[in-house]
Amino acid sequence: MTDNHDEIVSPIALEEEREAEATLRPRRLSEFIAQDRVREQLELLLQGAMRRGRPPEHILLSGSPGLGKTTLAMIIAAELGAGLRITSGPAIERSGDLAAVLTSLAPGDVLFIDEIHRMARPAEELLYSAMEDFRVDVIVGKGPGATAIPIDVEPFTLVGATTRAGLLTGPMRDRFGFVGHLEFYEPHELDILLHRSARILGIKLTDDGAAEIAGRSRGTPRIANRLLRRVRDYAEVRADGVVNAVNARAALQVYDVDELGLDRLDKAVLNALVRSFGGGPVGLSTLAVAVGEQPDTVEEVCEPFLVRAGLLARTPRGRVATAAAWRHLGLTPPDRLTFLDRLPRAGSGRADSMGDGATPIPDLFNQDP
Ligand code: ADP
Repeated sequence: MTDNHDEIVSPIALEEEREAEATLRPRRLSEFIAQDRVREQLELLLQGAMRRGRPPEHILLSGSPGLGKTTLAMIIAAELGAGLRITSGPAIERSGDLAAVLTSLAPGDVLFIDEIHRMARPAEELLYSAMEDFRVDVIVGKGPGATAIPIDVEPFTLVGATTRAGLLTGPMRDRFGFVGHLEFYEPHELDILLHRSARILGIKLTDDGAAEIAGRSRGTPRIANRLLRRVRDYAEVRADGVVNAVNARAALQVYDVDELGLDRLDKAVLNALVRSFGGGPVGLSTLAVAVGEQPDTVEEVCEPFLVRAGLLARTPRGRVATAAAWRHLGLTPPDRLTFLDRLPRAGSGRADSMGDGATPIPDLFNQDP
């Protein structure tokens, strides 16, 4: 079992919830909620390919964990009526592992590689020729006597998923014909998602219950579905079984989920930024050391949501806590951050809503202390 207080709002899938997730996964594009742009573009891409009777171009999906990349890969295969093979960058340790997968594909199969940016370099190079020419060079022997034997691969579609498209090498990115970026979900979109999940799981969910959970789900379907299940437990054990706002608030208090749904790492980053570094600016690696995490994890998993929620800004001189972050921690923001709030007509420039995460007036942060 996991420590709920730490992991209930983690965007990463917990081991024990894989089965529950599978039940809730939409199977077709029409059931996939929100992400309208990516959905429409994919629909055109898949229908075009089916009309031509050819596999579609390779597809790269980027976005934070839990936003639906694996689900979309499964949907792509289902829409095409194609077979699906699933692997991940870290699982492919040697290029031979990848060659074995590629050469066993059936015509038209979809190959899903999760965390594709974490693939070892030699395997990545092997993938280039498979993506481009449907051919792999398998090296036989060692040293000067080593020979490359070209082996044909059936035409396939690669669906790559990454939490950060920016980490992919140029040659890899260039080989994808379609790149779709998944955004965090708005609360009203998570509302719809929660009602769908409640229907499937036979949970009585009221509108105010859905709204309460949606607002604390970190813009992430995986977290919304998990909180729904936890609130259902609470409602069944301690109340009348109905997931309404009152039960949701009480349950989420038990699980220590705050009103923004920040997870342990989010809170640690904000606390370090504000309490240890006076609100910043502070460099990513210094911040990562302070919270005992890899810089990559802080940058890929934690920061996108904090920026989106208007709690953290990335500036040329480092990471900065916004006035909203100070307030969220129950502290009074320093004057330099509330300066704008006190100007007439400054309200629209505030960065403490779920806006687009615009960096608040970088110049203020860029002045030398
Ligand atoms: P990722 O691969 O990006 O980490 P997943 O595809 O595994 O995320 O999605 C996590 C969970 O959230 C799945 O159980 C899936 O059912 C649900 N989910 C994600 N996106 C959607 C969506 N747009 N509509 C409905 N459910 C979704």
